[in-house]
Amino acid sequence: METLAVERRIPAVAKTESIIKAEGVSLSFGNVTALDNVGIDVSQSEVVTIVGPSGAGKSTFLRCLNLLTKPDTGRIAIEGKLIFNNSGTVNKRDLREVRRKLGMVFQRFHLFPHLTALENVTLAMLDARIATRDEAVEIATGLLDRVGLLKRALAPAPRLSGGEQQRVAIARALAMKPRALLFDEPTSALDPEASREVLSVMKELAQQGTTMVVVTHEMKFALNVSDRILFMEAGRAIESGSAEDMFYRAKSPRAKEFFAQALNHLGN
Ligand code: ADP
Repeated sequence: METLAVERRIPAVAKTESIIKAEGVSLSFGNVTALDNVGIDVSQSEVVTIVGPSGAGKSTFLRCLNLLTKPDTGRIAIEGKLIFNNSGTVNKRDLREVRRKLGMVFQRFHLFPHLTALENVTLAMLDARIATRDEAVEIATGLLDRVGLLKRALAPAPRLSGGEQQRVAIARALAMKPRALLFDEPTSALDPEASREVLSVMKELAQQGTTMVVVTHEMKFALNVSDRILFMEAGRAIESGSAEDMFYRAKSPRAKEFFAQALNHLGN
């Protein structure tokens, strides 16, 4: 099989600093084992995508990384600082810090409907008191420009298309100057055109060196943009490797089958 020409990212600066390190993360909902001993290590400027069949535990694992969902056991460190250690409790200050450091973009955008695009982006900064109103407006304007929405800054959120709303959500996450962005199936509620808009913004962020962990079914994005792919199934991390290795040289039978099917869909 011929290898796709993989679009390389701009070489990231030093990829040495660990931004997110999770080990042995396990979680059950009643008698459903959602996560069984899953780990990840994400360095600065790395883009890691998490793929696998529905119900594999991908979203649950992503939510565990910023403690939106608390694991039963495991260790999670952000920038080398342990924020969750087995079944220990998490103090509120650590929780605030982790939420600020890891911006989250959800499948459904969760914008405030009574606010404009600009206000949705400024609000988080004002709430966290990390900017004055003037500074917040300036930062938000710059970020809306970066996601291609400067002209829509004053539009009320419900007037924006799905793709525009998701791009506002990305600008809002970036406004907190996070150390990494977590994306939970950011295009699965969108039509193909809107998905393309959002994926193109995400690709640009990746090229600019943004550290990203992305749960996605968009296999073309996984192939072209990821530095590393983690393949999950039935609550377990089955295999991880570079995009090329996973798509063309996966070792485990299930990963082989999954990526072969994906290549088939991509027309390769
Ligand atoms: P994926 O993102 O790979 O589709 P999920 O992380 O959403 O998988 O789900 C993993 C498993 O955990 C599934 O069996 C799902 O039904 C279960 N699950 C996820 N969230 C909950 C919850 N809040 N309560 C009960 N079961 C859940």
